[in-house]
Amino acid sequence: MNIDFSKMGGLVPAVAQEYGSNEVLMVGFMNQEALSLTLKTKIVHYFSRSKNRIWKKGETSGNIQKVIDVKVDCDADTILLIIEQVGNSACHTGAKSCFFNSFDEIQSNNPLIESSVADLPTKYGKFKVKAYKDGCQEHLAIMSQNFFDLDDPIVRIHSECLTGDTVGSLKCDCSNQLGLALELIAKEGGLVIYHRQEGRNIGLVNKMNAYKLQDEGYNTIEANLKLGFKEDERDYSAVGFILKDLKVLKMKIVTNNPVKIEFVQALGIEITKRVPAITAKNRHNEHYIQVKKEQMGHML
Ligand SMILES: [Zn+2]
Repeated sequence: MNIDFSKMGGLVPAVAQEYGSNEVLMVGFMNQEALSLTLKTKIVHYFSRSKNRIWKKGETSGNIQKVIDVKVDCDADTILLIIEQVGNSACHTGAKSCFFNSFDEIQSNNPLIESSVADLPTKYGKFKVKAYKDGCQEHLAIMSQNFFDLDDPIVRIHSECLTGDTVGSLKCDCSNQLGLALELIAKEGGLVIYHRQEGRNIGLVNKMNAYKLQDEGYNTIEANLKLGFKEDERDYSAVGFILKDLKVLKMKIVTNNPVKIEFVQALGIEITKRVPAITAKNRHNEHYIQVKKEQMGHML
């Protein structure tokens, strides 16, 4: 287990979740010894900060948490314990409402980590950039130089598409839409939020599996459903945080997607204009754009 305890003062947060549920049962701490004991005995051992030692069996509530799996988050600074509870629940070792109800609640209580604002010269023009870290995902706000002086800036919430944006894939219209938005904000002033939720948030591996299904004749929605996902798994809560952080109260939104419009309006942000994100079609993306129009309600 790749955790450097010395970097974190010897203690790492440990979150216990009951197997088959997404409820957080307990948030505790572990030191190196507690983690070693946990892995060795398959019984969770927490470190008590008040007693400055590992909790002893029976000392808290008599509750025992049997280990089913132990995971570490992407930054190797939080331990996730998948457990099965044996015995009664009491506050210290397992009351279900003691700390948090679910990961969603933890996430909504946790603001994103923000970077400084830096300059970024690009082929489109000179921008200012600021990055945000939300769990394992990192997002980028790209702003024109005059962004903070604008009353209703042009805003594009662009969802990451590595194959389109980086490789120049012709299967979708993402790369063209990104280029269009960056040109627009360079010229007229505004913001592009590069929202790192690849493949409508199913990730790159699943997206390639969906592409394989598309090679076999399924459309973009059918392929996602066949893999067990919803047609769109995106979550815009990080975007809400970023828009608030950048004090956007009004915007001219660049989108064809009614879901993004509804999301922005629900934040209480006024949309003064919708700028369509229409770009050139080709024989590879024609069908994809058609499906977005007919089955996902995109205004194309
Ligand atoms: Zn794409």
